[in-house]
Amino acid sequence: MLQEKGYYGQFGGAYIPEMLYPNIASLQQQYISIIEHADFQKEFEYLLKQYVGRPSPLYKAERLSEHFQTQIYLKREDLNHTGSHKINNTIGQILLAKQLGKAKIIAETGAGQHGVATATVCALMGMECIVYMGEVDIARQSPNVARMKLLGAKVVPATSGSRTLKDATNEAMRHWINHPDDTHYIIGSVVGPHPYPDMVARFQSVISAEIKTQLQSQVGREFPDYVLACVGGGSNAAGAFYHFLEDERVQLIGAEAAGLGVESGKSAATLALGTVGILHGSKTVLMQTTDGQVVEPHSISAGLDYPGIGPMHAHLADINRATFYPITDEEAMQAGWQLSRLEGIIPAIETAHALAILPKISFKKEDIVVINLSGRGDKDLDTYIRYFELI
Ligand SMILES: *Cc1c(COP(=O)(O)O)cnc(C)c1O
Repeated sequence: MLQEKGYYGQFGGAYIPEMLYPNIASLQQQYISIIEHADFQKEFEYLLKQYVGRPSPLYKAERLSEHFQTQIYLKREDLNHTGSHKINNTIGQILLAKQLGKAKIIAETGAGQHGVATATVCALMGMECIVYMGEVDIARQSPNVARMKLLGAKVVPATSGSRTLKDATNEAMRHWINHPDDTHYIIGSVVGPHPYPDMVARFQSVISAEIKTQLQSQVGREFPDYVLACVGGGSNAAGAFYHFLEDERVQLIGAEAAGLGVESGKSAATLALGTVGILHGSKTVLMQTTDGQVVEPHSISAGLDYPGIGPMHAHLADINRATFYPITDEEAMQAGWQLSRLEGIIPAIETAHALAILPKISFKKEDIVVINLSGRGDKDLDTYIRYFELI
C-alpha cells in the first residue's frame, strides 16, 4: 500500500517547514529499524499485554446481530486502558521517543482521548508532557482535561480558528518547530508528514492482527466479510483494516462525521465535501474553500471534528478499495442509544458513527461483520445527557 517517500497513490508525503527537516528526516530514516528491532517489539508487546490489557476481546453481539439479521462482532478497543485505541499508538511512540533520546513530549488532542493516552505514557516513562487542545474541546470534554492534569501533563488551550482539533494541531506543530532538538511530537492519528501515517498505522495494526486470530478461533476462518470503523484522522480504521488491505474478500467501510448533514454547512464529512490539498504536512483530501482556506468542521463528537483525513484513507477512497459513509450527529446518537440498550455497552460518540453504518447496508444473514468499537462513552456522558434529556 505504501510507496516511496510516504505516498499512498497521489496522497501523503512530507510538506513541512524547513525548521522541521532534521527531525522528520531522522524519523524517516530510523522508524522502521527502531520499531522492527526485537527488543523494541518485546517491550511494546509486553506493555500492550500487561499495561493496556491486550488482546482486546472480539465479542459476538447477539442482540445487535439479531436486530440487523447478520453476524456482528465487536472489537472491544473500548476496554483498553484509558478507554480507546489511542493507547496502542502512544505506547509505540513513547518507546520510539526514548530510542531517539528525546526527553519531552508534545501532543494535540480533540476529544482528549489522545491527550489522555499521551499523558498516561509520559507518566509511565517519567517524561515531560504538553498537550495542545482547542478551547471549545476543553469545554466539552472537561473530564479528560482533568485526567490529563492529574497525570501530570500541561494542557495548553488553542485559541485560534474554530478552537478545535485542527487548531490544536497547528499549535503543536508550531511548538515543535521552536523546540526541534529535545522534543518528540506524538501525533494521534494517521495524519501529518511521512512517516507518521505509516508509523501510526503500524502501531494500530495490532487491532486487525488480533481480529484475524480471534476470528480463526471463533468462526474457523481468519477474515470477515466486512470491517466497519469510524474515521476522524483514520487511525482506528487503519488499524482495523491493516491486515485486510490486500484481501479483496473483505469489504472495508468507514464512517465520517456529517454533523448536521453533508449539505448543512455544519459538517466534517471530508471525503464527501473535500478536495485535494495540503493539511498538517501531508497531501490529502480536506475541506477547503476554492481559494484554499480550511473550512471549519462540525461534528457532535470532538474526535471526528477534523477537516482532513489521513492519506491512506484518501487513497483507499480514490481507488474504491474502501467505502465511506457520511453519518449525521442524529444517526450517531441513535446508534449509541441502540448499542447501550441492546448490548449494555455505551460507546464513544465517535464509535457510534461506525455503528450507524449498520442500517445503511443490506447484509446477508451469514455475513461476518466486524465493527471496531474504538472507545467507550464515559467521556461523552454529558453529551448523551443533554441530547436525550436523561436528567
Ligand atoms: C480519537 C478517536 C477517534 C478518531 O480518531 P481516528 O484516528 O480516526 O481513529 C475515534 N474513536 C475514538 C474513541 C477516539 O478517541
